[in-house]
Amino acid sequence: MLNLVQTQAAPGAEVLSAKGVRQGFEKSAGELLVLDNVDLTLRDGEIVALLGRSGSGKSTLLRIIAGLIRPSAGEVMYRGEPVKGPAEGIAMVFQTFALFPWLTVLQNVEAGLEALGVDPKESRKRALAAIDLIGLDGFESAYPRELSGGMRQRVGFARALVVDPTILLMDEPFSALDVLTAETLRTDLLDLWMEKRLPTKSVLLVTHNIEEAVFMADRILVFSSNPGRVAAEIRVPFAHPRDRLDPTFRQMVD
Ligand code: ADP
Ligand code: MG
Repeated sequence: MLNLVQTQAAPGAEVLSAKGVRQGFEKSAGELLVLDNVDLTLRDGEIVALLGRSGSGKSTLLRIIAGLIRPSAGEVMYRGEPVKGPAEGIAMVFQTFALFPWLTVLQNVEAGLEALGVDPKESRKRALAAIDLIGLDGFESAYPRELSGGMRQRVGFARALVVDPTILLMDEPFSALDVLTAETLRTDLLDLWMEKRLPTKSVLLVTHNIEEAVFMADRILVFSSNPGRVAAEIRVPFAHPRDRLDPTFRQMVD
């Protein structure tokens, strides 16, 4: 018999945490407090969605976690160490792809490895593997302008995954795509995650889309606005849509 109610897996080790993160920006009218006392934890092997309205400070928080900006107060810990700048092992996918238009797909993906000082031969090999994994085989020498939005975001994913990140941060990665393209990319990603073919061990997905959060995540952190703060946590309490992507399940329903 098929048991659709998944037993709650024991939570893995904590890989990342934010504690008391505060961020204000100087504006002409005074300080705009964007994040206040944000606490969150990401454990090994889970996909967590951070669900919040536009302007609530989600991207700011993600940039702080990625080490791209320093918070006004509080701390982000990654594997027991405070994050003080971009950390090896944390990669990010952006809403508007952030590709270099003057570089080919292959060069864009290799750019992900540049900061790590990987030698060119190894770099080429890893970039080709990431491109293949994400379904861009055959488009290595294309330029971003020659690709559809969905394919451009696949390049964004390949560039993040090529560094074998422990943690993948995603800032509304599907929101610039049309509905069907977004759905295909979400499903493809979950497929790879289910098949354990993604190098990443934990995912933090920022979104304003409730359905997306439920579809993708094990846990949803509900983010308040003005100022942004984790106001509630929801454990997705039913069998995941992504369980239906499991190959053994597919065999049974086919
Ligand atoms: P979200 O990603 O949830 O839409 P953001 O983190 O992009 O929210 O922005 C939250 C608020 O912080 C907005 O009001 C935005 O204008 C402001 N903000 C973000 N970055 C900066 C910055 N570098 N300087 C000044 N204000 C900023
Ligand atoms: Mg944002």
